[in-house]
Amino acid sequence: MIKPAHIQWSNGTPISSEFDDVYFNTQSGVDETRYVFLHHNNLAARWNNPALNHFTIAETGFGTGLNFLCAWDLWQQCSQPQQDLHFISVEKFPLRLDDLTRAVEKLPDFSHLTKSLLKQYPALVPGWHSLYFEATESHGSVTLHLFFGDIHDWLPNIHAKVDAWFLDGFAPKKNPDMWDHRLFHQMARLTKPNGTVATFTSAGVVKRGLSAAGFSLQKAPGFGKKRQMLTAKQSYETGPCIPDFLTDKPWFNYQVKQPSHKQAIVIGAGIAGCSTAHSLAKRGWIVHLLEQSSHIAAGASGNAQGVLYAKLASKLNPLSDFYLAGYLHTLRVLNQQLPDKQNWNDCGVLQMALTPKEDSRQQAFLQHQDLSAILSGATKEQASILSGVPLEHNALHFQHGAWLYPTDLCTALIKHKNIHLHLNCKVEQLNKNQQTFWQVLSNNDTVNAINASAVVVCAAQQSCTLDQLSFLPTKPIAGQVTQIDLSHLPLQTALCGEGYVTPTHLGKINFGASYRLNSDNTDITEQDNQDNFTRLKKDFPAVAQFINSNSPMVGRSSVRCTSPDYTPIAGPVCNTRIFAEQFEKLKKNKHWRFYESATFEEGLFVNLGHGSRGLTSAPLCGELVAAQANNDPWPMPKYIANLLSPNRFLVKHIND
Ligand code: SAM
Repeated sequence: MIKPAHIQWSNGTPISSEFDDVYFNTQSGVDETRYVFLHHNNLAARWNNPALNHFTIAETGFGTGLNFLCAWDLWQQCSQPQQDLHFISVEKFPLRLDDLTRAVEKLPDFSHLTKSLLKQYPALVPGWHSLYFEATESHGSVTLHLFFGDIHDWLPNIHAKVDAWFLDGFAPKKNPDMWDHRLFHQMARLTKPNGTVATFTSAGVVKRGLSAAGFSLQKAPGFGKKRQMLTAKQSYETGPCIPDFLTDKPWFNYQVKQPSHKQAIVIGAGIAGCSTAHSLAKRGWIVHLLEQSSHIAAGASGNAQGVLYAKLASKLNPLSDFYLAGYLHTLRVLNQQLPDKQNWNDCGVLQMALTPKEDSRQQAFLQHQDLSAILSGATKEQASILSGVPLEHNALHFQHGAWLYPTDLCTALIKHKNIHLHLNCKVEQLNKNQQTFWQVLSNNDTVNAINASAVVVCAAQQSCTLDQLSFLPTKPIAGQVTQIDLSHLPLQTALCGEGYVTPTHLGKINFGASYRLNSDNTDITEQDNQDNFTRLKKDFPAVAQFINSNSPMVGRSSVRCTSPDYTPIAGPVCNTRIFAEQFEKLKKNKHWRFYESATFEEGLFVNLGHGSRGLTSAPLCGELVAAQANNDPWPMPKYIANLLSPNRFLVKHIND
C-alpha cells in the first residue's frame, strides 16, 4: 500500500513529517541541486556530446521532483533530438498531486516543464510508472521511470545501466534505514563502468558504504554553509562487478550490446506490432512493419470498441501488478496518441459482480488493497447512477476505464517518420545473414533484402510457424463480437462481466464476445450473435431491453492468441537447440545453479499471447521489448519481465 508524503508547509518550504527534514529550500534549492547533482556528475560536459546516444540517471527519492526538473532543464539546453534521457527515481512516500502542484509553484523557472510533469504524474498506486516526454526539434526525449515503494524493494528489481546517481534521500541521521549496505550493493550492480555518483552528504556511513561497494571517492566543498559533499566513481572499468547472471536465472538475463545499426523488422501489425514499432521508432530505430493482410489490425485488434480495464486478482500478485501497470500505461499512450478524444472515451468501466462468488471476490479485493486513486467499489445503486441504467449487482468502478477503437490506436501509433509499413507481406522464415543481421524470407523481394539488427515477432498464433519460435505453446481462441444500431441507449460507462457492452458511439453499440477454445475458425455465425445477445439479456437486462431482437446484428470474428498460463509472451528468445544442451541439468534438479549466461538468438524478440487483454498488455510489452533491444532501462521490474519471458517455456520443456 502506498503512503503519500505528509507535508507541512513552513513559510512556503515543504517539510516532510515522516522524516522531519526539508525537501528543498525555496531560496536556494535550485542552486543547490545544480551544484551538488548536476555539476558534480559533470552532466553539462557529458551531455554536450553529439555521439551520445542515451543517458541514464538514477535517484533515491523523487520527492517534489526538483532534481528531475533541474536535470530535464539542463538536458533541454545540451541534448540533441536523437538523444534520450532516462531518469529512474524510487519514492517511498510520493507527494499527492495537490502537494506536488504547490511545491513546483515555488519553481517558476521550470514552469515550461512542470505543466507536462503534472499532467502525467501518476495516481498514487503501488508499482511503477514510465512517463514519456517527447523529443522536439531542438532537444532529446525524456523518460521518467517512477517506482513507488521502498528503495530496498525496488533496486534489486531494476534492470538498467546507470551513468549517474543522484544520491538524495533525507540526511542519513534522519533516514538511517535507507543509507545502508543494501543500497550501495545495488548501486554497484547497476552502475556502468566509470559511472558517477554525487551526494550532498559526506557522512561516514555513506563514505564507508560506497567504498566497500567498489566506488572511488572524492570530497568536494559542500553547498552554501555545508562543509563537505561527496562524489564517487565506479572503479570497475571493464564491466559490472556483480554479473547479473549470478543473481538472475541465465535465461532471463539478457545483456545486449549497444546496437550499431538501428534497423528493425516487426512482424504483424496488430496492437502488439504497432505498439512495438512505435516504441522502437521513438528510440530512433528505422522500423519495417510487415503485415500479411491488406490492412493493419486485421486480427483481434480490428474489433470495434474494445474495452480497457484490468482484471486483477483479489490479492495483488505479480501478474496483477503487470496488468495494473499495463492499464495505466495504455491510458497514458491513448492520451498522448489520440489527444482529441474523438473516437475513444475514458468514461469509466464497471466490472460487474454478476455472481455471489464474484461479489465476495471483489469485496476481498477492496479489503486487501487501496487502489482508490483509480478504482473503487460501487454498490448496485451507485453503479446504476454511474452507468445511467438500472443495475442489479455491485461492481468495481475503474474511474478512467475506457472504450476505444483499437484500429485507431494502431493507426496513430505507426504514424511516425521512422516506420515503414509493408502490407500483403507474408513471412515464411527468419534467417541470420553471416551471423550478423536478420533477414526474412517472404513474398516481397524488397523486404527480403532488408538487414535488421532486431526482429520482433508479433504475429499472434502464426508466430510459432517460424522455426526459431516453434517451441512456443500458444493456443488459439476464436471469438465473435456483435454490433447493432442503437442510438437511444442511456448507458454512460462500459459494462464488463463474462462479456462486455459499450456505450453508444456513432449510433452503434458493441457487445460480446463469444469464445471458441482451441479454434482458429473465423467464420461469422448467426448462432454466435444470438449467444452474445442471450448473455447480454442475462447479464445486463437494463441494456438489452433497449434492443429490438429483430435488429440486424453484425458479427466480426477473429482469433485471439493465448498461452497455457494465460500470461503474455514478450522478450528476447534463447536459441532452442543450445538451450536444451546447456541447461540439461535442470532435468535432474530444477534448482541447479548455473554460472554462465544463456545463448540468445541475438536480436530476436516476441510480443504476443495477449488473449483478449491486448489493449491492457500489448503496449507495455512493446515498451519492454524496445527497451531490451535498445539497451535502455526496462520499463518494468525484472520479476515481471521474467514472468513474460518466452524462455519460461524452454525451461518447462526440459522439466516436463
Ligand atoms: N529528490 C527530491 C527532490 O528533488 O525533490 C528530494 C528528495 S527528499 C530530500 C528525500 C526523498 O526520499 C523523500 O521524498 C522521501 O520520501 C524519499 N525516501 C526516503 N527514504 C526512502 C526509501 N527507503 N525508499 C524510497 N524513498 C525514500
